[in-house]
This record gives sequence, structure tokens and C-alpha cells, in this order.
Amino acid sequence: AEGLSAEKLQSVIESAYDRYKDLDEGANADYIPILATVPSDLFGIVITTKEGEVFTVGDVDYQFSIQSVAKPFTAALVMQEHGPEKVQEDIGVEPTGLPFNSKLALEVHEERSVNPMVNAGAIAVVSMVPAENEDERWEKIMDNLEAFAGDDLTVLEEVYQSEYENCWSNRAIANLLFNYGRLYCEPEEALRVYTRECSVGVSALDLGMMGATLANGGTNPATQEEVLDADHVPELLALMAIAGFYDESGEWMYTAGIPAKTGVGGGIVAVVPGEMSIAAFSPRVNASGNSVKAMKAIRYIAGELGVGVFGAN
Ligand code: GLN
Repeated sequence: AEGLSAEKLQSVIESAYDRYKDLDEGANADYIPILATVPSDLFGIVITTKEGEVFTVGDVDYQFSIQSVAKPFTAALVMQEHGPEKVQEDIGVEPTGLPFNSKLALEVHEERSVNPMVNAGAIAVVSMVPAENEDERWEKIMDNLEAFAGDDLTVLEEVYQSEYENCWSNRAIANLLFNYGRLYCEPEEALRVYTRECSVGVSALDLGMMGATLANGGTNPATQEEVLDADHVPELLALMAIAGFYDESGEWMYTAGIPAKTGVGGGIVAVVPGEMSIAAFSPRVNASGNSVKAMKAIRYIAGELGVGVFGAN
């Protein structure tokens, strides 16, 4: 980034860390029971430049479940396979303004009322991955997440079990989508594969590299693999900008000014297009399911660096 020295990047993440490390607002999500057992005080921040340079502070190696931070990356896979128009037609690109697990959003407009950043759209995304069977569907999704991370990833099996045993709300969503002809494989298959992608273990460092791949026009800076065509990156970042924080997405863009995606495991990755990613992890989430500390830290960093996409906030 022009004018942003290594010293500046390291010092800004350290000040963000110091500023928010003692904050204990929010609570671990517990509707997926195992998430309540993750140590709540964990906190890590990473900046990864589009050249692949990495700056870290705090608990950046701890493995947590990716949860909804997987959503943009699997949407990228579907864009890559079918083109962005297909995502717009078959899923939708409007913000719902509703919680991530909303069923109401599906009932508002039967044609296109959701987007790939909320559960309904993300379950539909999984069903659109071209595959002969469930194993192939899963392998394509996992390979794609690994390509973005530039590293091998594993499923946290206890997280998968804990969520799959309690996923009645997502099952309702999958069934509603299927009822409306907006799910493109069997509902239970889509539900299992979606739950599995949410259970993939990542560290803040992994999220940083995944975001840096988007900041670098879809090419992983560490492996040089072209994971997403550069001309699809703007559409993907637009989805993150309009819906990355569900019913807080407007507030996020208004106050932080950069596209980002959160997960109820406490991870957030933000992208400064053509420059860098800012990733953070901390398990305590607010009522919308967004990590309180990660959100505040990234907003502070974006503000200090003056990297808002519409101008410095
Ligand atoms: N796996 C979670 C769910 O479907 C993901 C939600 C989230 O991270 N906001 O409920």
C-alpha cells in the first residue's frame, strides 16, 4: 500500500489490540453448543498485504471454526463455475436487512430475496456447485477454501457434529428453498455440505491469506494460484459490502468503509481491494452474531489507515 510502511501496519494492529483486548462485551455463540466452550478471551489480528507480507498480534494461530466466513469463498467458486449473472438470477444479491438465519427473508419475494452472505443464499450456493454426488460437492468446496488459504485445512469434527445435531433452523431454510425451486440439490445434502463448510478449522492467519487473495485480484499471494478470475472479484466484494454483517451491514459500511465477512465463530475478514486484508478473531459476538472485538479492531485499523473504499472515514 502506498505510503503505508511495514512499521505503520505493525503499529496500528498493536494499538488496536491494546485498545480492545480487555473488552468483554458480547458472549460466545451457544446455539451451536460447542462454540460456547471456546476460550472467550482469545484475540488476534492479522494484516496480510497483496504481496503476501504478514503482520500479526495476539492469538493468530488458534484454530476456530470458519462458520459464515466460508460464504464469500464458496460463492466465489460458484461465480467461477457459472459466472456472476447466475448467482444474481438463481440466488439473489439484495441485502435482506435481517438476521443471518432468517426464514422471513425467503418469504418476502419468492424470486430473489436473499444473497450468498446469509444462510439461505449460502445453502443455495452449496447446491449450485456442479457435482455428481455429495463427496464431489464437498471436495470441490474444501479444495477451493484451501486454494484461497494456500494451505491444507481440516474439518473440526466436533463442531460439525454439534451443529448438525442442532441445525433445525437451517433445515427449515433448506426445505423452504427446495419448496420454492431455489435449491439445486437434495435439501439434506445441501444442509450437510453447508454445515461441513462452516466447521472448517482456520486461524486468523488463514483468514488473512484468504482475504489477501481477494485483495490481490483473486490470485493467492503465497502460492500464486489464480483462485478467482480478477473480473469476478468486484462482484464478490460487492456482496460482502452489502451483506457481510447481515442486519448490521449498513452500519458496518457506514462506519468502517471496507467490505468484510463475519462468522459466528468469532472470525472476520475485511478486504482493502488492491491492497491488503485485515483479519481478526475473538469469540464473543453481539446479537447479530458478529465478533465485538474483531469488528471494533478492524474498524479502528481501517480508520487509522484511511483505507475506506469510498474515501478515508
Ligand atoms: N454455521 C452457522 C449457521 O448456519 C453460521 C452462521 C454464522 O456464522 N453467522 O448458523
